[in-house]
Amino acid sequence: MLEQLDQIEQTALSGLASVLDEQALQDWKVAHLGRSSPLMKVFDGLGGLVKEERPAIGRRANEVKRLLESAFAEKSEAMRQLALQGALQSERLDVTLPGRPLRQGRLHPATQTLREVYRIFAEMGFQVYRSREVETDEFNFQLLNFPPHHPAREMQDSFYIDAGVERGDNPILLRTHTSPGQIHAMREFAATNPENPPPIRIILPGMCFRYEQITARSEMQFNQVEGLAVGYNITFGDLKGTLSDFARRMFGQNVRSRFRAAHFPFTEPSAEMDIECFVCGGEGCPVCKRTGWLEILGCGMVHPVVLRNGGYDPTRYTGYAFGMGPERMTMLRHRIEDIRYFWSNDLRFLEQF
Ligand SMILES: [Zn+2]
Repeated sequence: MLEQLDQIEQTALSGLASVLDEQALQDWKVAHLGRSSPLMKVFDGLGGLVKEERPAIGRRANEVKRLLESAFAEKSEAMRQLALQGALQSERLDVTLPGRPLRQGRLHPATQTLREVYRIFAEMGFQVYRSREVETDEFNFQLLNFPPHHPAREMQDSFYIDAGVERGDNPILLRTHTSPGQIHAMREFAATNPENPPPIRIILPGMCFRYEQITARSEMQFNQVEGLAVGYNITFGDLKGTLSDFARRMFGQNVRSRFRAAHFPFTEPSAEMDIECFVCGGEGCPVCKRTGWLEILGCGMVHPVVLRNGGYDPTRYTGYAFGMGPERMTMLRHRIEDIRYFWSNDLRFLEQF
């Protein structure tokens, strides 16, 4: 009988070892600890044993019962832990994973170039002066020495605004260049001391508009940055020095520049400034059209008529002015071949900067 109990114990324990799921565990419990299990049959049969054998068999049967019960409890707990581990693995929430990044905006490439220009001129003592985008013909042309019907206007086809009243030779238009700001600025500075107007050192950035055929090289809207310095004894040498230094700070310390004679109604003498091509180093390449030079701005000494229109006496004051296109400079630096990318708002283009 004792051997039978050993047999029951071993069969039960080896059966338990191969239990893998909850259902099998419950089946095992019925089979080995249930009402009709071999172990319970032993208990049932205790009464039929001879008196001397009864205590030893009873003790051993109880021992096997406790052992199987604790083995069951242990297995049950182990399976519960296993299930929990499984759930933790499969439903894991990893709080250390990096979050999904928010899409961040960025500065427009033209704005980036503008800010670089501001920074360089700020270091040289120039302030930023902003003026209106909607102008009168008087400020956009006449006060800048473009009389009505002057042929130089041909280069600046304009968007006129229907003001609802006949304005004769002074219609309203979208400014075609930032130069009308020169008159606004000079008059504002001169108003502070009309007898001895203070010197001026400003840059005038902003959007300009021309009635142009839109092509890879011309847009109907674009930025300009104008510069204006007015004071005593300002010479063409100051103009060349300032702009050459600007070019070195903007395009690299070793960049060479040159000035070519040009014509603008509001400056005299006038020049266009080229810098040595930074793509080929002056050797000649498609970007510089094999000349080795890139045109970056127009400039000149402020015309006496313009100084007078601004409230500055041209017999006592001189000054220089210059104007450049940030989009064109951005195109040269990044070898962008089509100016239409700037304002078509295509993220594939804008996200490259
Ligand atoms: Zn080149």
